[in-house]
Amino acid sequence: MKNIRLKRIVAATLMFTWIVAQNLDTQAVMAWAGGQAKATKKTASSAGRNSEKRILAAEKGSGEESNWLAHGRTFNEQRFSPLKQINDTNVKELQLAWSLKLDVDRGTEATPIVIDGKMYTTGAYSIVYALDAKTGKLLWKYDPKVPRDYAERACCDAVNRGVAVLEDKVYIATLDGYLVALDIATGKVIWKVDTIIDRSRKYTITAAPRIAKGKLIIGNGGAEFGVRGYFTAYDAKTGKQAWRFFTVPGDPKKPYESKAMEMAAKTWTGDKYWEYGGGGTAWDSVAYDPDLNLLYVGIGNGSPWNDGYRSPKGGDNLFLSSIVAVNPDTGEYVWHYQTTPGDKWDYTATQHMILADLNIGGQARKVLMQAPKNGFFYVLDRKTGELISADSYVKVTWAKGIDKTTGRPILSETSDYSKQPQFTFPSPYGGHNWQPMAFNPQTGLVYIPAQEVPFIYVNDAQFKERKRGFNNALGMVNQGIPEDGFSVSGILALTSGKLSAWDPVKQKEVWKVDFDNPWNAGVLTTAGNLVFTGTADGRVVAFSADKGTQLWQATAQTGVIAPPMTYMVDGEQYVTVMAGWGGALALVGGDVAKAAGVRSIARVLTFKIGGTASLPPLPAEEPMPDIPANVASAETVQKGRELYHQYCVFCHGLAAVGGGTIKDLRFMSTERHKSFSGIVTNGLPDKGMPNYDGEITAEQIKLIQAYIIKRANDEKNRKAVNTTK
Ligand code: CA
Repeated sequence: MKNIRLKRIVAATLMFTWIVAQNLDTQAVMAWAGGQAKATKKTASSAGRNSEKRILAAEKGSGEESNWLAHGRTFNEQRFSPLKQINDTNVKELQLAWSLKLDVDRGTEATPIVIDGKMYTTGAYSIVYALDAKTGKLLWKYDPKVPRDYAERACCDAVNRGVAVLEDKVYIATLDGYLVALDIATGKVIWKVDTIIDRSRKYTITAAPRIAKGKLIIGNGGAEFGVRGYFTAYDAKTGKQAWRFFTVPGDPKKPYESKAMEMAAKTWTGDKYWEYGGGGTAWDSVAYDPDLNLLYVGIGNGSPWNDGYRSPKGGDNLFLSSIVAVNPDTGEYVWHYQTTPGDKWDYTATQHMILADLNIGGQARKVLMQAPKNGFFYVLDRKTGELISADSYVKVTWAKGIDKTTGRPILSETSDYSKQPQFTFPSPYGGHNWQPMAFNPQTGLVYIPAQEVPFIYVNDAQFKERKRGFNNALGMVNQGIPEDGFSVSGILALTSGKLSAWDPVKQKEVWKVDFDNPWNAGVLTTAGNLVFTGTADGRVVAFSADKGTQLWQATAQTGVIAPPMTYMVDGEQYVTVMAGWGGALALVGGDVAKAAGVRSIARVLTFKIGGTASLPPLPAEEPMPDIPANVASAETVQKGRELYHQYCVFCHGLAAVGGGTIKDLRFMSTERHKSFSGIVTNGLPDKGMPNYDGEITAEQIKLIQAYIIKRANDEKNRKAVNTTK
């Protein structure tokens, strides 16, 4: 009895992980002197303006402690603030100071930039907000009017991770691939460039641009849909392209763009990789060391994921899943470290990179640290790319460890899924995804927002590129899994999240806080002995940095995934987080959070000691409307279910456990069902629903509808049972 239930839970989880992964994108002794750096006086002309000099001062601990001037606060991306007015003794008095509702209730992943009391942040569809950081008053707004159907080509929600600010301009990279310079005072467009090389391919941008040497660095995403990765540097004043670095080789009949591409091409096999695109998108992380004059960029997964199609005779497939160091002046290759050679698991190395100076074995080492999706925490020498150490920070089954001499993973028996499906940790969600880590030079610890989510990899023997949806050449395990096995408890049985305090010198966990759900928020750490993060179940939380003791929490009413940040205005310290449930896992498994009583509501939340603001009460739960009766045969429902999971699940979520952040289709009324076929065929462009004309037949639409009606009736019956209890 117990065994059967366990098997059903495992089977359901396997199914769930396959489905969710279809939607993924689918990552001591410190130089910082510490303590109380003196505030520097701004001249009238520099107030409110940002500069590389100011960011460097913040990094060296010589002023700028009130500000958050760059994405990871400083070039080294440590996400450490020297502010300590809010600290481990008074954080319990932290209250909401102000909140601002955003225009679109989808995932919010941005880190706000704060300069001299003004905040610049973003919401879904790359909408930019300039705010008074003390009051939350809107100063200006810029909406790039991204076509809403770009949501369909963004693997993991129409999210944006924030702006860059330099001198008198605010820079946004939009979901539809433009880099736009805005006047910092008014939000008016100064210049706009198209960063996409081929608009017939499904490129998108969700990353925050980064600043180095008077340039803006920006990559893109799209490796789930068949694109070739690259990143580009643009002159910050004019928008003129300075250089471009391709991350995977193109058509070998054409000349190589660089010596690096000539080298990379030798690691690919077969005659189609350039047609598939190859992948290797640089969709998030960048760090910069001005002293070494090196720019580090994290590179993503292969396209398609399945290497059997991409590079059939093997090969490392450079620069997939690599950290690449280039000269920021020229974009020339300097070194690379490949975390997952020949990646076939969507194990991107785009996850957040932190630069720090550590004492390792009695030696001061300039290191780069990353916890990519593949489950290993890497410490590299950032001058040479040499591996210093690597160890697993979550459960890992694809590899037994990292060989210290070759720097390569030691593959396990279950690493090959070409002949049989493989149940694997971590999943394409990663042991850690884009949610930024933080490094506290006072504790010497890296705080990793980690998670345990398994996945079953299946070779798709009949793979053909599709017009809509993912093209990752993976198959589906869909036999013998009972529909009612999709219970939230079943999913939760094998997935979880944790905040892990990691000692990068000893490669070992010092403390951890477990969360019931995966897909929690990025992290901030401060000189107040604090670590701030957020949770999928709708909380903003603070722990002591040294011991991991929970000291404070507040409700966000929505799942929190973005990293908190902090700043000071008029002598008062504030903590801000962009709250808004969404992103890869949320889209598909949205009900995991719904079960915790949270919604998809996008807001800026700002806290201070003794704040007096409050959030409006949560709107009532959506009632079940009048729905059609379920009259379809089990066979019809099963066919519909397969189609639903092929086309709809990426945005509308697992119908069996509920919707994601988008419309839960079980809540469609009888009236709405009458126009269902037309909506699927023609789309709802203003809501981001693409048209499936020519992709899904009229007959298939009916099957999908039958499945939705069945699930709606299941939900109605469940609610009825709950009410009578
Ligand atoms: Ca991916």
